[in-house]
Amino acid sequence: MRAVDLIVAKREGEAHTRAQLAWLITGMLAGTVPDYQMAAWLMAVCCRGMTDQETADLTAVMVDSGRRLDLRPAAPFVVDKHSTGGVGDKTTLVVGPLVAAAGVPVGKMSGRGLGFSGGTIDKLESIPGLRVHLSDAEFIAGVRQVGLVVAAQTSDLAPADGRLYSLRDVTGTVESLPLIASSIMSKKLAAGANAIVLDVKVGTGAFMKTEAAARALAAAMVAIGRAAGLQVRAVLSSMDQPLGLAIGNALEVREAIATLRGAGPADLRDLALELGGQLLAMGGQAPDAAAARPLLQAVLESGAALAKLRAFIAYQGGDATYIDRPEQLPTAPAVVPVLAPTAGYVATIDAAALGLAAVALGAGRPVKDAPIDPAVGFVLHHKIGDAVQPGAPLIDIHARSAAQAAGVAGRVQAAFTLRPDPVAIPSLILGTC
Ligand code: URA
Repeated sequence: MRAVDLIVAKREGEAHTRAQLAWLITGMLAGTVPDYQMAAWLMAVCCRGMTDQETADLTAVMVDSGRRLDLRPAAPFVVDKHSTGGVGDKTTLVVGPLVAAAGVPVGKMSGRGLGFSGGTIDKLESIPGLRVHLSDAEFIAGVRQVGLVVAAQTSDLAPADGRLYSLRDVTGTVESLPLIASSIMSKKLAAGANAIVLDVKVGTGAFMKTEAAARALAAAMVAIGRAAGLQVRAVLSSMDQPLGLAIGNALEVREAIATLRGAGPADLRDLALELGGQLLAMGGQAPDAAAARPLLQAVLESGAALAKLRAFIAYQGGDATYIDRPEQLPTAPAVVPVLAPTAGYVATIDAAALGLAAVALGAGRPVKDAPIDPAVGFVLHHKIGDAVQPGAPLIDIHARSAAQAAGVAGRVQAAFTLRPDPVAIPSLILGTC
Protein backbone atom coordinates (compact mmCIF):
# COMPACT_ATOMS: atom_id res chain seq x y z
CA MET A 1 0.00 0.00 0.00
CA ARG A 2 1.18 3.57 -0.64
CA ALA A 3 -0.03 6.68 1.14
CA VAL A 4 -0.12 8.61 -2.13
CA ASP A 5 -2.65 6.15 -3.57
CA LEU A 6 -4.94 6.66 -0.57
CA ILE A 7 -4.59 10.45 -0.90
CA VAL A 8 -5.50 10.29 -4.59
CA ALA A 9 -8.40 7.89 -3.93
CA LYS A 10 -9.83 10.22 -1.31
CA ARG A 11 -9.23 13.25 -3.52
CA GLU A 12 -11.39 11.50 -6.13
CA GLY A 13 -14.10 10.85 -3.51
CA GLU A 14 -13.55 7.11 -3.14
CA ALA A 15 -14.18 5.29 0.15
CA HIS A 16 -11.37 3.57 2.06
CA THR A 17 -11.60 0.11 3.59
CA ARG A 18 -10.91 -0.42 7.28
CA ALA A 19 -7.66 -2.19 6.36
CA GLN A 20 -6.52 0.86 4.38
CA LEU A 21 -7.37 3.20 7.25
CA ALA A 22 -5.56 0.94 9.72
CA TRP A 23 -2.48 0.90 7.48
CA LEU A 24 -2.47 4.70 7.19
CA ILE A 25 -2.96 5.42 10.91
CA THR A 26 -0.43 2.77 11.94
CA GLY A 27 2.03 4.27 9.45
CA MET A 28 1.47 7.76 10.83
CA LEU A 29 2.18 6.59 14.39
CA ALA A 30 5.20 4.56 13.30
CA GLY A 31 6.60 7.48 11.32
CA THR A 32 6.51 5.64 7.98
CA VAL A 33 3.74 7.92 6.68
CA PRO A 34 5.11 11.46 7.04
CA ASP A 35 3.10 14.44 8.28
CA TYR A 36 2.97 16.04 4.82
CA GLN A 37 1.14 13.02 3.41
CA MET A 38 -1.19 12.87 6.41
CA ALA A 39 -1.88 16.59 5.97
CA ALA A 40 -2.75 16.08 2.30
CA TRP A 41 -4.98 13.14 3.20
CA LEU A 42 -6.73 15.14 5.94
CA MET A 43 -7.45 17.93 3.45
CA ALA A 44 -8.85 15.39 0.98
CA VAL A 45 -11.12 14.00 3.74
CA CYS A 46 -12.13 17.52 4.68
CA CYS A 47 -13.14 18.28 1.08
CA ARG A 48 -14.65 14.93 0.05
CA GLY A 49 -16.01 13.59 3.35
CA MET A 50 -16.37 9.99 4.44
CA THR A 51 -19.16 7.45 4.38
CA ASP A 52 -20.72 6.42 7.72
CA GLN A 53 -18.88 3.12 7.46
CA GLU A 54 -15.54 4.86 6.90
CA THR A 55 -16.15 7.20 9.85
CA ALA A 56 -16.96 4.21 12.09
CA ASP A 57 -13.90 2.34 10.80
CA LEU A 58 -11.61 5.34 11.33
CA THR A 59 -12.93 5.68 14.89
CA ALA A 60 -12.28 1.98 15.59
CA VAL A 61 -8.77 2.22 14.17
CA MET A 62 -8.09 5.29 16.35
CA VAL A 63 -9.37 3.48 19.47
CA ASP A 64 -7.15 0.51 18.61
CA SER A 65 -4.13 2.83 18.33
CA GLY A 66 -3.91 2.82 22.13
CA ARG A 67 -5.29 1.09 25.18
CA ARG A 68 -8.80 1.23 26.66
CA LEU A 69 -9.52 2.11 30.24
CA ASP A 70 -11.44 -0.63 32.05
CA LEU A 71 -13.79 1.08 34.50
CA ARG A 72 -15.47 -2.12 35.72
CA PRO A 73 -13.46 -2.11 38.99
CA ALA A 74 -14.76 1.45 39.62
CA ALA A 75 -18.50 0.87 39.33
CA PRO A 76 -20.90 -1.29 37.34
CA PHE A 77 -22.18 1.71 35.37
CA VAL A 78 -20.17 4.90 34.76
CA VAL A 79 -21.31 7.88 32.70
CA ASP A 80 -19.43 10.54 30.78
CA LYS A 81 -20.27 13.85 29.12
CA HIS A 82 -18.63 15.61 26.21
CA SER A 83 -19.10 19.02 24.64
CA THR A 84 -18.02 19.67 21.08
CA GLY A 85 -16.57 22.98 22.31
CA GLY A 86 -17.92 26.43 23.01
CA VAL A 87 -17.36 29.77 24.73
CA GLY A 88 -18.13 30.08 28.45
CA ASP A 89 -18.96 26.38 28.55
CA LYS A 90 -18.38 25.39 32.17
CA THR A 91 -21.23 22.86 32.11
CA THR A 92 -19.10 19.87 33.16
CA LEU A 93 -18.35 21.58 36.48
CA VAL A 94 -22.09 21.70 37.19
CA VAL A 95 -23.31 18.49 35.53
CA GLY A 96 -20.63 16.26 37.08
CA PRO A 97 -21.45 17.09 40.73
CA LEU A 98 -25.22 17.05 40.07
CA VAL A 99 -25.21 13.60 38.47
CA ALA A 100 -22.72 12.11 40.94
CA ALA A 101 -24.73 13.49 43.88
CA ALA A 102 -27.86 11.91 42.39
CA GLY A 103 -26.15 8.53 42.54
CA VAL A 104 -24.69 7.87 39.08
CA PRO A 105 -20.86 7.73 39.01
CA VAL A 106 -19.15 10.06 36.54
CA GLY A 107 -15.70 9.34 35.10
CA LYS A 108 -14.66 11.96 32.62
CA MET A 109 -11.55 12.70 30.60
CA SER A 110 -11.44 16.30 29.42
CA GLY A 111 -9.32 18.47 27.19
CA ARG A 112 -7.71 21.88 27.21
CA GLY A 113 -8.86 24.95 25.34
CA LEU A 114 -8.81 24.73 21.57
CA GLY A 115 -8.93 27.80 19.35
CA PHE A 116 -11.73 30.07 20.58
CA SER A 117 -13.25 27.35 22.78
CA GLY A 118 -12.26 26.84 26.40
CA GLY A 119 -11.32 23.51 28.02
CA THR A 120 -12.41 22.02 31.35
CA ILE A 121 -8.86 21.02 32.30
CA ASP A 122 -7.64 24.63 32.05
CA LYS A 123 -10.59 25.77 34.16
CA LEU A 124 -9.93 23.14 36.84
CA GLU A 125 -6.26 24.11 37.05
CA SER A 126 -7.29 27.53 38.36
CA ILE A 127 -8.12 25.76 41.64
CA PRO A 128 -4.85 25.70 43.60
CA GLY A 129 -3.36 22.24 44.03
CA LEU A 130 -5.87 20.39 41.84
CA ARG A 131 -4.20 17.57 39.89
CA VAL A 132 -5.61 16.73 36.49
CA HIS A 133 -3.05 14.05 35.63
CA LEU A 134 -4.18 10.90 37.38
CA SER A 135 -2.98 7.31 37.07
CA ASP A 136 -5.54 4.70 36.05
CA ALA A 137 -5.62 3.46 39.65
CA GLU A 138 -6.33 6.99 40.94
CA PHE A 139 -9.02 7.54 38.32
CA ILE A 140 -10.75 4.26 39.16
CA ALA A 141 -10.46 4.78 42.93
CA GLY A 142 -11.91 8.30 42.56
CA VAL A 143 -14.93 7.06 40.64
CA ARG A 144 -15.43 4.35 43.26
CA GLN A 145 -14.92 6.50 46.37
CA VAL A 146 -16.18 9.94 45.32
CA GLY A 147 -18.39 9.13 42.34
CA LEU A 148 -16.81 11.92 40.29
CA VAL A 149 -13.45 12.26 38.57
CA VAL A 150 -12.47 14.72 35.84
CA ALA A 151 -8.95 14.18 34.55
CA ALA A 152 -6.84 15.10 31.54
CA GLN A 153 -6.98 12.70 28.64
CA THR A 154 -3.88 10.51 28.79
CA SER A 155 -1.79 10.31 25.64
CA ASP A 156 -1.98 6.51 25.47
CA LEU A 157 -5.79 6.54 25.04
CA ALA A 158 -6.51 7.00 21.31
CA PRO A 159 -2.99 8.37 20.64
CA ALA A 160 -3.82 8.63 16.93
CA ASP A 161 -6.23 11.43 17.80
CA GLY A 162 -3.49 13.48 19.45
CA ARG A 163 -1.36 13.26 16.29
CA LEU A 164 -4.20 13.89 13.89
CA TYR A 165 -5.56 16.74 15.99
CA SER A 166 -2.32 18.68 16.08
CA LEU A 167 -2.03 18.30 12.29
CA ARG A 168 -5.65 19.37 11.75
CA ASP A 169 -5.18 22.39 13.99
CA VAL A 170 -2.53 23.82 11.64
CA THR A 171 -3.81 22.62 8.26
CA GLY A 172 -7.31 24.09 8.17
CA THR A 173 -8.90 20.67 8.60
CA VAL A 174 -10.63 20.94 11.98
CA GLU A 175 -14.13 21.62 10.62
CA SER A 176 -14.81 18.22 9.09
CA LEU A 177 -17.72 16.13 10.31
CA PRO A 178 -16.06 12.69 10.04
CA LEU A 179 -12.81 13.99 11.54
CA ILE A 180 -14.57 15.66 14.49
CA ALA A 181 -16.85 12.64 15.05
CA SER A 182 -13.97 10.13 14.99
CA SER A 183 -11.77 12.40 17.14
CA ILE A 184 -14.36 12.77 19.89
CA MET A 185 -15.76 9.24 19.81
CA SER A 186 -12.36 7.52 19.72
CA LYS A 187 -11.43 9.29 22.96
CA LYS A 188 -14.80 8.56 24.53
CA LEU A 189 -14.76 4.87 23.60
CA ALA A 190 -11.20 4.49 24.93
CA ALA A 191 -12.13 6.16 28.23
CA GLY A 192 -14.37 3.27 29.20
CA ALA A 193 -17.74 4.77 30.27
CA ASN A 194 -21.00 2.87 29.71
CA ALA A 195 -23.09 5.88 28.69
CA ILE A 196 -22.26 9.27 27.22
CA VAL A 197 -24.21 12.45 26.73
CA LEU A 198 -22.87 14.63 23.92
CA ASP A 199 -23.47 18.37 24.05
CA VAL A 200 -23.28 19.29 20.39
CA LYS A 201 -22.87 23.04 20.12
CA VAL A 202 -24.21 25.00 17.18
CA GLY A 203 -23.74 28.64 16.25
CA THR A 204 -21.16 31.39 15.96
CA GLY A 205 -19.18 30.15 18.94
CA ALA A 206 -19.16 26.49 17.86
CA PHE A 207 -17.29 24.44 15.28
CA MET A 208 -20.66 23.57 13.68
CA LYS A 209 -22.18 26.83 12.49
CA THR A 210 -25.56 25.52 11.31
CA GLU A 211 -28.17 23.37 12.99
CA ALA A 212 -28.15 20.98 10.02
CA ALA A 213 -24.39 20.43 10.36
CA ALA A 214 -24.68 19.96 14.13
CA ARG A 215 -27.53 17.46 13.70
CA ALA A 216 -25.47 15.48 11.20
CA LEU A 217 -22.48 15.46 13.58
CA ALA A 218 -24.69 14.41 16.50
CA ALA A 219 -26.25 11.59 14.48
CA ALA A 220 -22.81 10.36 13.36
CA MET A 221 -21.43 10.30 16.91
CA VAL A 222 -24.52 8.65 18.36
CA ALA A 223 -24.37 5.96 15.66
CA ILE A 224 -20.66 5.28 16.32
CA GLY A 225 -21.22 4.99 20.07
CA ARG A 226 -24.27 2.77 19.80
CA ALA A 227 -22.54 0.50 17.29
CA ALA A 228 -19.80 0.07 19.92
CA GLY A 229 -22.41 -1.03 22.47
CA LEU A 230 -22.67 2.19 24.52
CA GLN A 231 -25.71 4.19 25.44
CA VAL A 232 -25.30 7.57 23.75
CA ARG A 233 -27.59 10.57 23.54
CA ALA A 234 -26.89 13.96 22.03
CA VAL A 235 -28.31 17.34 22.99
CA LEU A 236 -28.02 20.18 20.47
CA SER A 237 -27.44 23.47 22.26
CA SER A 238 -27.04 26.98 20.95
CA MET A 239 -23.66 28.68 21.00
CA ASP A 240 -24.89 31.81 19.24
CA GLN A 241 -23.89 33.64 22.39
CA PRO A 242 -21.61 32.61 25.27
CA LEU A 243 -23.08 30.19 27.80
CA GLY A 244 -23.70 31.92 31.12
CA LEU A 245 -21.99 35.21 31.83
CA ALA A 246 -18.37 34.30 32.57
CA ILE A 247 -15.62 33.55 30.03
CA GLY A 248 -12.16 32.69 31.36
CA ASN A 249 -10.91 29.97 33.65
CA ALA A 250 -11.24 31.11 37.29
CA LEU A 251 -14.23 33.30 36.36
CA GLU A 252 -15.99 30.23 34.98
CA VAL A 253 -15.16 28.13 38.04
CA ARG A 254 -16.74 30.87 40.17
CA GLU A 255 -19.85 30.83 38.01
CA ALA A 256 -20.12 27.03 38.25
CA ILE A 257 -19.83 27.24 42.06
CA ALA A 258 -22.53 29.94 42.14
CA THR A 259 -24.77 27.73 40.02
CA LEU A 260 -24.29 24.79 42.38
CA ARG A 261 -25.23 27.18 45.21
CA GLY A 262 -28.57 27.78 43.50
CA ALA A 263 -27.61 31.13 41.98
CA GLY A 264 -25.83 31.43 38.63
CA PRO A 265 -27.25 32.14 35.18
CA ALA A 266 -30.45 30.44 34.08
CA ASP A 267 -29.08 29.17 30.74
CA LEU A 268 -26.18 27.35 32.41
CA ARG A 269 -28.50 25.81 34.98
CA ASP A 270 -31.02 24.74 32.31
CA LEU A 271 -28.39 23.11 30.12
CA ALA A 272 -26.84 21.34 33.12
CA LEU A 273 -30.26 19.98 34.14
CA GLU A 274 -30.94 18.76 30.59
CA LEU A 275 -27.56 17.05 30.17
CA GLY A 276 -27.65 15.68 33.72
CA GLY A 277 -31.20 14.44 33.15
CA GLN A 278 -30.10 12.51 30.09
CA LEU A 279 -27.30 10.90 32.09
CA LEU A 280 -29.58 9.94 34.98
CA ALA A 281 -32.07 8.46 32.52
CA MET A 282 -29.34 6.37 30.88
CA GLY A 283 -28.17 5.37 34.38
CA GLY A 284 -31.64 4.00 35.08
CA GLN A 285 -32.58 6.58 37.74
CA ALA A 286 -35.54 7.92 35.75
CA PRO A 287 -37.51 6.95 32.65
CA ASP A 288 -36.41 10.07 30.77
CA ALA A 289 -34.56 13.36 31.16
CA ALA A 290 -37.69 15.30 32.14
CA ALA A 291 -38.48 12.83 34.92
CA ALA A 292 -34.86 13.07 36.14
CA ARG A 293 -35.03 16.85 36.58
CA PRO A 294 -36.61 16.84 40.07
CA LEU A 295 -33.88 14.44 41.26
CA LEU A 296 -31.22 16.88 40.07
CA GLN A 297 -33.07 19.85 41.51
CA ALA A 298 -33.23 18.07 44.87
CA VAL A 299 -29.45 17.56 45.06
CA LEU A 300 -28.95 21.15 43.94
CA GLU A 301 -31.24 22.55 46.62
CA SER A 302 -30.01 20.26 49.41
CA GLY A 303 -26.37 21.25 48.84
CA ALA A 304 -25.47 17.62 48.04
CA ALA A 305 -24.15 18.60 44.59
CA LEU A 306 -21.96 21.34 46.08
CA ALA A 307 -20.66 18.84 48.66
CA LYS A 308 -19.84 16.48 45.75
CA LEU A 309 -17.84 19.26 44.07
CA ARG A 310 -15.87 19.75 47.31
CA ALA A 311 -15.20 16.01 47.62
CA PHE A 312 -14.05 15.75 44.00
CA ILE A 313 -11.71 18.73 44.32
CA ALA A 314 -10.25 17.39 47.57
CA TYR A 315 -9.76 13.91 46.07
CA GLN A 316 -7.76 15.39 43.19
CA GLY A 317 -5.55 17.35 45.62
CA GLY A 318 -7.26 20.72 45.21
CA ASP A 319 -7.95 23.14 48.03
CA ALA A 320 -11.70 22.67 48.55
CA THR A 321 -11.91 25.72 50.81
CA TYR A 322 -11.94 27.79 47.60
CA ILE A 323 -15.44 26.47 47.00
CA ASP A 324 -16.61 28.34 50.08
CA ARG A 325 -14.40 31.36 49.39
CA PRO A 326 -14.41 31.58 45.58
CA GLU A 327 -13.34 35.22 45.80
CA GLN A 328 -9.88 33.86 46.67
CA LEU A 329 -9.53 32.16 43.29
CA PRO A 330 -7.11 34.00 40.98
CA THR A 331 -8.39 37.53 40.35
CA ALA A 332 -7.33 39.92 37.59
CA PRO A 333 -5.91 43.28 38.79
CA ALA A 334 -7.78 45.37 36.19
CA VAL A 335 -11.55 45.17 35.67
CA VAL A 336 -12.60 47.52 32.88
CA PRO A 337 -16.19 47.83 31.63
CA VAL A 338 -17.04 48.13 27.94
CA LEU A 339 -20.03 50.45 27.54
CA ALA A 340 -22.99 50.36 25.18
CA PRO A 341 -22.45 53.05 22.52
CA THR A 342 -26.21 53.60 22.02
CA ALA A 343 -29.51 52.57 23.50
CA GLY A 344 -31.08 49.41 22.11
CA TYR A 345 -31.66 45.71 22.50
CA VAL A 346 -28.78 43.25 22.34
CA ALA A 347 -29.32 41.47 19.01
CA THR A 348 -26.17 39.36 18.58
CA ILE A 349 -23.07 38.50 20.62
CA ASP A 350 -20.24 37.00 18.59
CA ALA A 351 -19.16 34.23 20.95
CA ALA A 352 -16.16 33.18 18.84
CA ALA A 353 -14.88 36.78 18.78
CA LEU A 354 -15.12 36.93 22.58
CA GLY A 355 -13.43 33.53 22.84
CA LEU A 356 -10.53 34.75 20.69
CA ALA A 357 -10.32 38.01 22.66
CA ALA A 358 -10.11 35.92 25.84
CA VAL A 359 -7.22 33.99 24.28
CA ALA A 360 -5.53 37.34 23.53
CA LEU A 361 -5.83 38.25 27.23
CA GLY A 362 -4.13 34.96 28.17
CA ALA A 363 -7.17 32.79 29.02
CA GLY A 364 -6.21 30.42 26.17
CA ARG A 365 -3.11 29.52 24.19
CA PRO A 366 -2.06 31.45 21.09
CA VAL A 367 0.57 28.77 20.47
CA LYS A 368 0.90 25.18 21.65
CA ASP A 369 1.89 24.81 25.33
CA ALA A 370 1.76 28.58 26.06
CA PRO A 371 1.03 29.32 29.74
CA ILE A 372 -2.53 30.23 30.74
CA ASP A 373 -3.50 33.18 32.93
CA PRO A 374 -6.32 31.74 35.07
CA ALA A 375 -7.59 35.14 36.23
CA VAL A 376 -8.36 36.93 32.98
CA GLY A 377 -11.48 36.89 30.83
CA PHE A 378 -14.88 38.54 30.63
CA VAL A 379 -18.09 38.82 32.58
CA LEU A 380 -21.11 39.79 30.51
CA HIS A 381 -23.70 42.17 31.93
CA HIS A 382 -26.16 41.51 29.12
CA LYS A 383 -27.28 38.71 26.85
CA ILE A 384 -29.33 38.63 23.66
CA GLY A 385 -32.74 40.27 24.11
CA ASP A 386 -31.71 42.58 26.98
CA ALA A 387 -32.50 46.29 26.72
CA VAL A 388 -29.52 48.59 27.38
CA GLN A 389 -29.11 52.31 27.88
CA PRO A 390 -26.28 54.28 26.26
CA GLY A 391 -23.21 54.15 28.50
CA ALA A 392 -24.44 51.07 30.40
CA PRO A 393 -21.78 48.35 30.83
CA LEU A 394 -22.16 45.52 28.31
CA ILE A 395 -19.31 43.41 29.62
CA ASP A 396 -16.36 43.68 32.04
CA ILE A 397 -12.86 42.90 30.83
CA HIS A 398 -10.77 41.17 33.52
CA ALA A 399 -7.16 41.82 32.51
CA ARG A 400 -3.61 41.93 33.85
CA SER A 401 -3.53 45.70 33.29
CA ALA A 402 -5.68 48.56 32.02
CA ALA A 403 -3.44 48.70 28.93
CA GLN A 404 -4.08 45.02 28.19
CA ALA A 405 -7.83 45.60 28.56
CA ALA A 406 -7.63 48.58 26.20
CA GLY A 407 -5.92 46.32 23.65
CA VAL A 408 -9.05 44.16 23.28
CA ALA A 409 -11.80 46.69 24.13
CA GLY A 410 -12.53 47.60 20.49
CA ARG A 411 -13.13 44.06 19.34
CA VAL A 412 -15.05 43.21 22.49
CA GLN A 413 -17.44 46.09 21.85
CA ALA A 414 -17.71 45.04 18.18
CA ALA A 415 -18.79 41.56 19.31
CA PHE A 416 -22.13 43.07 20.40
CA THR A 417 -24.74 44.41 18.01
CA LEU A 418 -27.66 46.48 19.27
CA ARG A 419 -30.98 47.04 17.49
CA PRO A 420 -33.64 49.65 18.20
CA ASP A 421 -36.49 47.10 18.32
CA PRO A 422 -37.03 44.32 20.85
CA VAL A 423 -35.16 41.10 20.08
CA ALA A 424 -36.52 37.63 20.88
CA ILE A 425 -34.49 35.57 23.34
CA PRO A 426 -33.08 32.63 21.32
CA SER A 427 -33.72 29.02 22.37
CA LEU A 428 -30.85 27.35 24.19
CA ILE A 429 -31.75 23.71 23.64
CA LEU A 430 -32.43 22.98 20.01
CA GLY A 431 -33.19 19.28 20.19
CA THR A 432 -31.95 15.84 21.18
CA CYS A 433 -31.09 12.66 19.36
N1 URA B 1 -13.16 18.21 20.06
C1 URA B 1 -12.41 17.12 19.81
O1 URA B 1 -12.02 16.40 20.71
N2 URA B 1 -12.08 16.86 18.54
C2 URA B 1 -12.49 17.63 17.50
O2 URA B 1 -12.17 17.31 16.38
C3 URA B 1 -13.27 18.77 17.78
C4 URA B 1 -13.61 19.04 19.08
